[in-house]
Amino acid sequence: MLLDGKKVRDEILVKLQEQIMQEKIKATLAIILVGSDEASQIYIRNKEQACAKIGINVQKYILKEDTLEKDVIKLIDKLNKQEDITGIILQSPVPKQIDFAKVSGLINPHKDIDGFTKENTYNLYLNKKCLMPCTVKGIITLLNYYDIPIAGAHVVIVGRGNIVGHPLSLAMLNLNATVTVAHSHTQNLADICQRADILIAAVGKPKLITKEYVKKGAVVIDVGVSRVDGKIVGDVDYAEVAPLASYITPNPGGVGPMTVAMIMENIVDAYKLGGI
Ligand code: NAP
Repeated sequence: MLLDGKKVRDEILVKLQEQIMQEKIKATLAIILVGSDEASQIYIRNKEQACAKIGINVQKYILKEDTLEKDVIKLIDKLNKQEDITGIILQSPVPKQIDFAKVSGLINPHKDIDGFTKENTYNLYLNKKCLMPCTVKGIITLLNYYDIPIAGAHVVIVGRGNIVGHPLSLAMLNLNATVTVAHSHTQNLADICQRADILIAAVGKPKLITKEYVKKGAVVIDVGVSRVDGKIVGDVDYAEVAPLASYITPNPGGVGPMTVAMIMENIVDAYKLGGI
């Protein structure tokens, strides 16, 4: 069965739109893009469209490729103090003169829509309320929507990146899954993946996960985004794996739309935290 991220996203956006109207929420998201990365521009457009749909204002700050780190920090400092700005996103990737972890870590934690600051990360580690990284929250929301049990399940996550794999492993532990995290040094990856009740690929290597990696009846979540001949390709070889899986995300159309929906949820949650 398909885990239809677009359908779930649309339902979430309708609910958020109602909430924003009823509660007269006046949220404004600031998006900072340094440079002109093509994929980032698409991601920003998706966020803008979702914001427009549900009644969230957006202010974009497009900075030149050679902008100095100290100038991005100055902008974040200004936005942190601005009462009308209720959420901030620093779009990744950033040019090499900028340390993404350091600079995004300076965002006011109550305006930290991506959930990358030390405060939100530590709260995730402690299993306390936090603004959670949106892709992580999106995967969990999608599993919950389809009533797929997480507690007690063996969740194998391929990839330990800071944006998906690593925070996802913490979130899954918090939900009482048994978690295995695999990465580029993992031996016998196929054997390990074969043991998963829920297999989540967050790598960025086209069609890494073939039928040999998947137990019959497993739930398969494909987070990876690669571009091959201008087309988006995931980490999972969908044609081979779909017949084996009990549930599987399409890619595109699975995790990506859920990430956008959770960005919108985090903007509303951040507004409620009250910013400064
Ligand atoms: P990342 O930081 O580059 O992490 C990639 C991970 O994959 C690393 O942990 C790496 O291992 C591991 N890896 C690389 N080659 C491997 C192999 N052959 N076997 C097993 N593991 C391998 O990437 P990320 O930011 O976490 O993102 C992962 C993917 O998700 C990317 O394709 C990204 O575009 C996509 N993504 C999608 C969404 C969405 O909304 N759909 C959102 C965010 C990211 P090491 O740690 O050992 O190097």
